[in-house]
Amino acid sequence: MYAPPIQRLISELGKLPGVGARTAQRLAFHILRASPQDAAALADSITEVKQRITLCEVCFNLADAPRCRICMDERRDGGLICVVEEAGDVISVERTHEFRGRYHVLGGALSPIDGIDPDDLKIVELYRRVTQPAQPIREVVLATNPTTTGEATALHIADALRERAPDVVVTRLASGLPVGGDLEYADEVTLGKAFLGRRQL
Ligand SMILES: [Zn+2]
Repeated sequence: MYAPPIQRLISELGKLPGVGARTAQRLAFHILRASPQDAAALADSITEVKQRITLCEVCFNLADAPRCRICMDERRDGGLICVVEEAGDVISVERTHEFRGRYHVLGGALSPIDGIDPDDLKIVELYRRVTQPAQPIREVVLATNPTTTGEATALHIADALRERAPDVVVTRLASGLPVGGDLEYADEVTLGKAFLGRRQL
């Protein structure tokens, strides 16, 4: 129906989450109408993010250097680790201003049905961080999503930490978060309260 370059753009845009065929078409026409500069800026930003952004070597948050900004910030409390599923969740927790520790991004949640096992997540790396002697850890806050997979992941990690690091306090965010929802969609007041009310597991 369209010239191949347009068809290609529509099909690439259609791969984005939440973008159906009609939206992909609408976005493609928007890009066709945009100035060459604006269109090039969009294309360049995609290329740049793929070239320059990597995972932090400590916490697996997104970073444009070997370590992310939070791991390099000396004012952050290194004895506190907040465990989240995705890098986007770091932003959500940061917005609450209730947490001054560091993070650990798992890269997802355990889901045997989808074939996601502990080996597919940065779980061993978390245990290594918690048990290494250079930086004693006082508390691990499990801030995985309040979904079935997020809860299963939190329990799995809590059990393992009890065994490997019995002196470390392991907490979970308080309820009040929408059950079955993602942290990403929680407003900062609700998430902030959940943080303050976290309970020991
Ligand atoms: Zn980091």
